[in-house]
Amino acid sequence: MNQDLELKKIAEAVAVCKKCDLSYSREKGVPGEGPADADIMFIGEGPGFHENMQGRPFVGAAGDLFVELLDAIGMKREQVFITNVVKCRPPGNRDPQPEELAACNPYLEKQIQIINPKVIVTLGRFSMARFIPQAKISEIHGQPVKMKGMLIVPFFHPAAALHRPSLRPTMEADFAKLPDLINNAQKAPVYQPTEIIENNDRAEQLSLF
Ligand code: URA
Ligand code: SF4
Repeated sequence: MNQDLELKKIAEAVAVCKKCDLSYSREKGVPGEGPADADIMFIGEGPGFHENMQGRPFVGAAGDLFVELLDAIGMKREQVFITNVVKCRPPGNRDPQPEELAACNPYLEKQIQIINPKVIVTLGRFSMARFIPQAKISEIHGQPVKMKGMLIVPFFHPAAALHRPSLRPTMEADFAKLPDLINNAQKAPVYQPTEIIENNDRAEQLSLF
């Protein structure tokens, strides 16, 4: 498989996608960016104002903080793949709706298959819920689980620390743990999705995985 070509096909599909109403508020689709063979994938929520104008993820204020947090652990944004659970901007940065998340999920699914990262870091609750439904971010941030051969690490969203500066030290501490979490991946518990079996929507989303 030519990973770069496959990722390009996704980007081209996102640019003209009409599978959900977010296509109406789209200036540019934001498929995500980074090396096709990245070991680590960061998944945020959705494009904001600047991302929508530039077609690139995490280039606004939350992006600046994200890059700073990465920098503090000796990582560059160019080393990791960065994307979102929805590829087009929700108007006024409102929450993505369940039908929008469901419509956009196949793109993310495909990206994960192509890149096959060792580690997925979810940024914020919508991205966390894609992997670990019904968990509370305030309870499980910084606590990784193993799933389908990958380490899933839930983090707060950088924008949360912009709105609540008291969260910033917590985010810094979570980021600082990332290298060790990755090195000790074998110690992370295997995810047991028992509590979601009766929830058809979520179970369906997971089985797509
Ligand atoms: N917030 C996100 O979740 N994603 C972006 O790309 C930018 C801000
Ligand atoms: Fe298509 Fe996703 Fe954009 Fe909706 S958010 S129009 S599903 S690319």
